Amino acid sequence: MPAQSVNSLFIDGQWRGASDGSTREIRSPHDSSLVTKVSEATAQDASDAIAAARASFDSGLFSSWSWAQRSALVARIADLLERDAEKIAMLESGDTGKRVIEADYDLADVISVFRYYAGLGLSEHDRVVHVGDERIDSRVVSEPVGVCALIGPWNYPLLQASWKVAPALIAGCSFILKPSELTPSSAIALMKVMDEAGTPKGVANLVLGAGAVVGAPLTSDKRVDLVSFTGGLATGKAIMATASQTVKKVALELGGKNPNIIFADADLEAAIDNAVTAVFLHSGQVCSAGTRLLVERSIHDHVVESIAARANAIRMGGPADLTAETGPLISQAHLGKVSLYVEKALAEGAQLLAGGKRSTHESLAKGWYFEPTVLDNCRTSMSCVQDESFGPVLTVETFDSEAEAIALGNDTIYGLAGAVWTSDSDKAARVAKALRHGTIWINDFGPYKAQAEWGGFKASGIGRELGPSGLHEYLEIKHIWTNTSPARSGWFEDSLERESK
Ligand code: NAD
Repeated sequence: MPAQSVNSLFIDGQWRGASDGSTREIRSPHDSSLVTKVSEATAQDASDAIAAARASFDSGLFSSWSWAQRSALVARIADLLERDAEKIAMLESGDTGKRVIEADYDLADVISVFRYYAGLGLSEHDRVVHVGDERIDSRVVSEPVGVCALIGPWNYPLLQASWKVAPALIAGCSFILKPSELTPSSAIALMKVMDEAGTPKGVANLVLGAGAVVGAPLTSDKRVDLVSFTGGLATGKAIMATASQTVKKVALELGGKNPNIIFADADLEAAIDNAVTAVFLHSGQVCSAGTRLLVERSIHDHVVESIAARANAIRMGGPADLTAETGPLISQAHLGKVSLYVEKALAEGAQLLAGGKRSTHESLAKGWYFEPTVLDNCRTSMSCVQDESFGPVLTVETFDSEAEAIALGNDTIYGLAGAVWTSDSDKAARVAKALRHGTIWINDFGPYKAQAEWGGFKASGIGRELGPSGLHEYLEIKHIWTNTSPARSGWFEDSLERESK
């Protein structure tokens, strides 16, 4: 019997159901079985959550805690997440269909994010400005930005939430978290942990439900000061337009179309192996997936044939399948989108070397499995090179020179991540500098750290998560100038003195 969580909105320190009693069934991407049933919030519930966050922020209760107190809270949350990690990983795996082992890795990363921000909270946040006048005390102080709407995607639900929640708490903000309607369970678990850790009432609020009904009001309401959003480009544009009406701060982590460049002088064994992981991990449902392979002409056949052979051999399976190497797509709708994307690529002239369709394997028939797919002979004019599929689809382009590799790598509206494989360190440095993407890996693909900023150039987003910049998103900067020896300015002639003369 699946767990039911119908009082699953957390508003003003209370668990409650939706105001109209609505619920949503969460079904497994692996076999469509019922995973859980959760509350489906209304616009009124979203408004209640904003009111709770606003009241808690305006009361000054939490924002007046010292940085050290807030660090201790975030460290406590990390401890409790560590205690519950196995249980939460199972919830994450159930909603997303990803293998439990991948969810375990995600949880370890989530905990490291909370620990990092707990540590960063203890560093110095204010700055003295020396103005060359001993009567003046001039300092720049950091204050919480206020009420934040934190809206997340379904591919790494808790990890993406942690990149927002941990710095928001350290900064002293109050917030409303809205995870994807497809993957609510780990956010419910996080709220329980934050409550147990002693987060004051009204600081952390959770609403669950559809983007248009529950997410949109969070981005238009004047009581919200900042929207931090991770998701697709179209939604990001809509959020930015809406938020502009009340001049909210906006932080956006959007899609990517990430070039993975292999030069002929690279360690090809490592490059090929990593190229397979870069694009097929989590069935390509990764914003930084290496979906665009750019390969030097002289090694094209060897590299592409090897990757296609590896793609054909990938074993897919559900969360509990210990032999599986990757899992299903998130939903039937997403499977349809990826299928259409491949059909269009083939119509545009791409050559299919592996996959290309929904899996026909009997054990996967009830789930949303798409075969790892390799498309050769692609060009930047084709939509499969320009558009994000967010599925297990690799496009291959060929280049003849370093300059061409760079030009191809930058020929995208996106700018999230990219990689370069070569044994020539000067060439690697030149290419890394020239690529207009927020993260560049040299002879590697995929690692990120809580200490290092993550985010996109161009249409991949605005702002940064992780690292010190990930905290700065949640801070307002105020300059306080104190004159310890007040005196007349003497700028204008004193009119009273003039009249008395
Ligand atoms: P999505 O844009 O469909 O939805 C993301 C979130 O926005 C969900 O919670 C959804 O309910 C909400 N939403 C939808 N419409 C809304 C509206 N009008 N107002 C407010 N909220 C609304 O994205 P998705 O399909 O959940 O996620 C996949 C996308 O996320 C991909 O494009 C991927 O590249 C991107 N992503 C980016 C990063 C990154 O770090 N840059 C990380 C993960 C995912």
